[in-house]
Amino acid sequence: MLQSSFWPYQPEDLPQKRNVKKVPFVELFNDRVQGVVSSGSDINRVYVAFIEAGTGDFYCSTNNNRPCGGLGGRPCSHIQEMLEEAMAQYGTARVGRFLKIPIDVSQVTAAWGLIQHLNGSQKKEPANEVFSRFLTYLRYVELPTSKHPIPEMTWFVS
Ligand SMILES: [Zn+2]
Repeated sequence: MLQSSFWPYQPEDLPQKRNVKKVPFVELFNDRVQGVVSSGSDINRVYVAFIEAGTGDFYCSTNNNRPCGGLGGRPCSHIQEMLEEAMAQYGTARVGRFLKIPIDVSQVTAAWGLIQHLNGSQKKEPANEVFSRFLTYLRYVELPTSKHPIPEMTWFVS
């Protein structure tokens, strides 16, 4: 790969293959890694999860705000899956910096390697904000391609 001083990304920041079936949506937003995770057992159910930068506070519930049964004072498997997909999409180094993890995370390969450095606790929050961001995201993903400009997309350019 051609490297130049204009190349803004480190190789570890380049996106890896994502499992969108397991984690259809993940983003670094508003001091949180947050996303939507498919239920392992029921294809009609999804979980909405987040983990907060700095504090490490976390929560996971269904999109109907039923608390996740896997939360027991520590992040559930959905939060771990979401973090691992964030690491794939954004790179572990960037996710580590975003979460304000105070160590060099370059050797970290699993979500627990990040979570163990955060002393978060469960923080109940309604799922709808994250879930509606997911639905908006889906709308853009499903927009038919067009040669004409899409007005809502202009902020990506400016
Ligand atoms: Zn969960």
